[in-house]
Amino acid sequence: MKTAFFYGKEDIRIHEINIPKIKEDEILIRVRVCGICGSDVRSYYKGVEGRYKIPLILGHEVSGQVFKIGGKIDNFAIGNRVAVAPIYGCGKCDFCLSGQENLCKDVMVFGCNLDGAFAEYMKIPAQAIQRGALVKIPDELSDEEAALIEPFSCCLHGVLRANIRPGDTVLVIGAGPIGLAHTKLLRLLGTSYIIASDVVDSRLEVAKKFGADMTINPQREDSLTKIKELTENKGVDAVIVAVGNPEAITQGLKMVRRGGTVVLFGGCPSNTVVQVDPNLIHYSDIAVVGSIDATIDEFRRTVSLVSIAEVKPFITHRFPLESIKDAMEMSKSREALKVAIKF
Ligand SMILES: [Zn+2]
Ligand SMILES: [Zn+2]
Repeated sequence: MKTAFFYGKEDIRIHEINIPKIKEDEILIRVRVCGICGSDVRSYYKGVEGRYKIPLILGHEVSGQVFKIGGKIDNFAIGNRVAVAPIYGCGKCDFCLSGQENLCKDVMVFGCNLDGAFAEYMKIPAQAIQRGALVKIPDELSDEEAALIEPFSCCLHGVLRANIRPGDTVLVIGAGPIGLAHTKLLRLLGTSYIIASDVVDSRLEVAKKFGADMTINPQREDSLTKIKELTENKGVDAVIVAVGNPEAITQGLKMVRRGGTVVLFGGCPSNTVVQVDPNLIHYSDIAVVGSIDATIDEFRRTVSLVSIAEVKPFITHRFPLESIKDAMEMSKSREALKVAIKF
């Protein structure tokens, strides 16, 4: 089978290898579509930390079809269309037992410490199947749409961390694929007013199409003044920081209302320091929360959400596996929203 092996910074090679053999309790899927995540782009251009196995098949936004099943598998059949939650926990720790697999210290991650889906076939280990990481997808969802379940599931986690209630006003900083996915989900979950902020005007135009009611370009406009005008000086109910920028975090803290929530969704470069007046958080009773990955439960819920969210326009560029370097290049550019490898 054809695979793209990642060896390190800007070193990815197409290899022909044997199709993985599966055991009695494993499943082999034929990959249909695998989206390129911002983290794949970061790995490719900046290199990876120690927890990544090298060489590695990257790719964790995957849809496919069951190609082979082990003799002990009774809940899947050959031909089932599936999506794969890319993380599953040890199943034994307090986090796993309370449904927070995303926080498990021994978490297994496809495209990180397990081979991912920039390959024609992908082996799903027994533990992943037992923990519910392999999910059947409905007929009405295309392979491309199903590959978006993963990024949307992470954004569902972000939205849930923001404690959104019906009728809320929410500011989403960053109108890349992640900011836009938040916008879509916020709209579905009853947010009444969504403000999108980004320094690229073309992205703000897209944000409007995806449900933003108002847009701000902080390079041309004063975000704080605009938010104050809009909310009669109160601030927004929640801010989702969907960029890895310390300045955006400090801005977000100023634009949230008393008692509101600021979600740090985007990872900053390591050793980033943010200067904050602690009294701003303390006296205004602000919750500052992180958001990382998604639980299996959130992933499974996202299957239904993606089915009703009209996510098709998210994928703007498609490449065959052989052109993965071009796909990475396109993914890095601001021209693309979501780039997908199609098989
Ligand atoms: Zn990802
Ligand atoms: Zn665990």
